[in-house]
Amino acid sequence: MRLILFGAPGVGKGTQAKILSSKLNIPHISTGDMLRQAVADQTELGKKAEEIMNRGDLVPDDIMLGLIKERLQKPDSDNGFILDGFPRTEVQAKSLDLHFAEMNIKDFNIVNIDADENEIIKRLNRRRVCKECGKIFSLDEIEGLKTCPNCNSENSFYLRDDDKEDVIKNRLEVFRANTVPVLNYYSNNRKIVTVNGIGSIEEINEEILKGLQN
Ligand code: AMP
Repeated sequence: MRLILFGAPGVGKGTQAKILSSKLNIPHISTGDMLRQAVADQTELGKKAEEIMNRGDLVPDDIMLGLIKERLQKPDSDNGFILDGFPRTEVQAKSLDLHFAEMNIKDFNIVNIDADENEIIKRLNRRRVCKECGKIFSLDEIEGLKTCPNCNSENSFYLRDDDKEDVIKNRLEVFRANTVPVLNYYSNNRKIVTVNGIGSIEEINEEILKGLQN
């Protein structure tokens, strides 16, 4: 199965993508994770992307297109993939369509996870990530813990720079201006499965799988 996951920052795309990836046995391709890795490794790309990401702005389309095309050519994507965080602009969506056409890919599913902005701001402020294994937690889940429940690393929780309140507001603005039009673009010629992003992780996951079956 080929899946494109849409949703505002903080709506739970990454969490759902990880679960779907293990249930459906297809790779989770997160452009945000790829960029964060490049920043951590201080590659040429990472150096270019770091400041842009810290502001909550978008990395230029040509860079993103090169990155995603290279990733989709890896053999693990042959039987499907989950795109999380791509495409984020109409230019990216149109280029992805061209790339799919070149690769003779006709079928892909679009899932949109929807949630209220105030809820998102609250959630992102309370989101912590383990810097060792990448697992995402809410502060409630790790209150008083010194080690990560997933990988046992010590003192590894951090608040992403772009999860700070003023940056979150910019990311939501960027989402409205650049990414909502992508959904409109697809809604002209594709079925979009929309699920409510407020609820338990399991409930939302079931809703996505049910929507994909119909
Ligand atoms: P995410 O983890 O998906 O929220 O992405 C974190 C940041 O990486 C975004 O705020 C952007 O700065 C950058 N980024 C990720 N994916 C893209 C993309 N498809 N186009 C442009 N910038 C991106």
